[in-house]
Amino acid sequence: MSPQASLSRLVSRSAAIRSLRTAAETIPSTSIKVLRVVDAVRQWRKPHMANMRSVGLVPTMGALHEGHFSLIRAAARENHHVVVSIYVNPAQFGISEDLASYPVTWDTDVAALARLDREFADDGANLGRISAVFAPPTSEMYPSGFPGQEIDSKGSFVTITPVGEVLEGASRPTFFRGVATVCMKLFNIVQPDRVYFGQKDVQQTVVIKRMVRDFMVPTDVVVCPTTREPDGLALSSRNVYLGPRRRRVAVVLSKALRAAQEQYDNEKLDRKDILGAANQVTENVLQEQMELPPSQRVTYEVDYISLADPDTLQEIESVDPTKGAVLSGAIKMKPVEEPQEGEDLGHSGGPAVRLIDNIILAPKVE
Ligand code: AMP
Repeated sequence: MSPQASLSRLVSRSAAIRSLRTAAETIPSTSIKVLRVVDAVRQWRKPHMANMRSVGLVPTMGALHEGHFSLIRAAARENHHVVVSIYVNPAQFGISEDLASYPVTWDTDVAALARLDREFADDGANLGRISAVFAPPTSEMYPSGFPGQEIDSKGSFVTITPVGEVLEGASRPTFFRGVATVCMKLFNIVQPDRVYFGQKDVQQTVVIKRMVRDFMVPTDVVVCPTTREPDGLALSSRNVYLGPRRRRVAVVLSKALRAAQEQYDNEKLDRKDILGAANQVTENVLQEQMELPPSQRVTYEVDYISLADPDTLQEIESVDPTKGAVLSGAIKMKPVEEPQEGEDLGHSGGPAVRLIDNIILAPKVE
């Protein structure tokens, strides 16, 4: 075979492989494409770019709940096309964290997206539609090989410091490196006009906004309010680990933050007053639990309750009323003691669960 003929055979073979890789499945009875590889997203994206159709990206790790849906609804209000990414990113889990047991609920996730998209179609308000789910394998997201979860792993990482080192970053030193790295990849792959994040993970929003600004990423970061259960518990994919006994007590964190917020609402600006109220709640609830027998009680450790500057997340001694502040906290719900016969301990046998929550204290004066 002439070198030209073998070259053209090679080219057409690689084109065939490429089109196999980029062939999109769709979620049954919808037009939502399931894209698994970067090339497929690029092919999908190109005409929308040319036709000036806006794209909103909602990055998730799946196990979708109403909190995620609120972000998708916001994206559909503001864009022609919504892309939801579902990817459990190993780089944002520490080596001893819950990567292996993280809930994966693909079938219910796609069914929920199909339902939501039908809602958008029926709404009559000219909403955008869920056009694609991007669910890549790790080999696609880390083309040079996954660099590892260790603190000293070598690889292509995005680090945003010092804001990624405090609060959650202090307890989970590789977390924001993993988040920023995967979000940079997702933003480069999807090239969204807007990206949607939940206030539930307030530090994540600060890190992502900083990354977008400092790396001149051409996208707008939209932050949506935290969706809560009726008793105030912030929705989280990790709540399934709790089981009913711990679920009842898990609301302590949001109660503590609300008590702190009340202080601010009552014109208190000092850290001592604001955080004192939150600490009082966590101490009282723990005290009540300790008075119960081990077979009924729930115990937890407070990792931190913080009052921080809204831009830097550095701790502050008093709130500047022209800037407001971020009140945030993390508690570790310990595994239940003396599990009872037939007691539902939660997903994966009810390991220790770390819960986070926050409230933004809005500026009081211009
Ligand atoms: P995750 O799947 O936990 O990585 O979350 C994906 C996105 O959903 C992030 O931007 C989260 O902040 C957001 N999110 C998670 N829980 C909630 C919630 N209860 N309310 C609003 N947004 C949320």
